Amino acid sequence: MNAPSGGAEWDVAVVGGGPAGCATALALLRHGVERVCIVEPEPIDDTPRPGESVPPDCRLLLEALGAWEVFAADGHDPCLGSCAAWGSAELGYNDFVFDPRGHGWHLDRARFDRSLRDLARSHGAVLLSGRVSAIEHRADAPAVMTVARKARPPSRLSARYLVDASGARGAVARRLGAERLPLDQLTCFYAFFDAADARSTSQLTMAEAAPDGWWYAAAVPGDGLAVAFATDPDIARDLRLDDRDRWFAQLENTTHIARRLFGCRFRPDSLMVRAAAVARLDRASGRRWLAVGDAAASYDPMSSQGLYKALSDALRAGDALARAQSDDQDIAPAYAEATRAEFDDHLRSRAYFYALEQRWADAPFWRRRYASARN
Ligand SMILES: Cc1cc2nc3c(=O)[nH]c(=O)nc-3n(C[C@H](O)[C@H](O)[C@H](O)COP(=O)(O)OP(=O)(O)OC[C@H]3O[C@@H](n4cnc5c(N)ncnc54)[C@H](O)[C@@H]3O)c2cc1C
Repeated sequence: MNAPSGGAEWDVAVVGGGPAGCATALALLRHGVERVCIVEPEPIDDTPRPGESVPPDCRLLLEALGAWEVFAADGHDPCLGSCAAWGSAELGYNDFVFDPRGHGWHLDRARFDRSLRDLARSHGAVLLSGRVSAIEHRADAPAVMTVARKARPPSRLSARYLVDASGARGAVARRLGAERLPLDQLTCFYAFFDAADARSTSQLTMAEAAPDGWWYAAAVPGDGLAVAFATDPDIARDLRLDDRDRWFAQLENTTHIARRLFGCRFRPDSLMVRAAAVARLDRASGRRWLAVGDAAASYDPMSSQGLYKALSDALRAGDALARAQSDDQDIAPAYAEATRAEFDDHLRSRAYFYALEQRWADAPFWRRRYASARN
């Protein structure tokens, strides 16, 4: 049963139609919250993602959201684990073979996002096109958002609760006074290869540490391989990594990643850059708003945990919002506390993994990782 709406059009407006936003809408609808909208810019950003995978236990979260059948039918490629030359020149293996939950998945990210969006819509969420450009958040009144739209005048909508699912931009939280606290400036330079004729085929994600950062290679749909170099922006500038030939020159210095590329063909013009900084909001919730997914905290891509976290945040956010709105109350502080505790856990694992690599302990990239682990 919904509490009185207080004049708002929407019980909950979710800003951002990525995985965290759509999963939060699904969780809310499963709780019986009725008037849920998702605001997402148009056209939907379909820039190819740099080869993302999710672990086997993602299945449990998808089941809890009622999204498992759709996910299974989408036919994402299995991910059988990972291997890494990290802390030594030799590859070490971490197979899902011994995992009782089975394998993980190399995602077709565009399809994953589309399916979650369609599912949320089929359960009753309304998708509104546009980009949130202003928020009036007044005491004891629903929030009013201005949504900028392509080639149309802006629209306005009011909602009793807001969800920031806008990714690292934090389009809601920032406007409501929350601050994003970065721990690093990690940036990925990635490109795509056709791997149909690859001499080495593998369903493992591969990582390789290097003096100035670390590389990974992961399967992408259509017999493709995404290859990424994660480093800091100043190092990237010195190495001129935005220049394809310079990026290839660094790639040639790798052992295992270069070997994996034997027989693969570079897809022309596919070199891209994406920010991948580790950061969190100073608070993941406030008066009648909360943040989920990357908007609340972005994890190191080394962990491959961003999407798992987006789905798990969504389930917790669904619980917290459903409880708050049925009593017409604020979000309980437990939500932000749990987000913070999980981020701290992530930082401990991150510190542990970076500390395993000591071959270039004096190089700026690695020194910064050890230092950020101490803060
Ligand atoms: C190099 C790299 C590799 C990664 N590898 C992995 C991996 O292997 N496994 C993994 O699980 N994760 C990985 N991640 C992390 C993963 O991509 C993110 O954690 C995930 O996309 C977070 O989902 P989200 O829904 O929170 O945010 P996003 O996917 O960023 O979605 C945010 C949405 O909000 C919308 N939006 C933004 N501003 C506004 C606005 N003003 N109004 C309305 N809408 C707005 C955007 O259009 C977008 O659709 C990786 C990240 C990087 C950078």
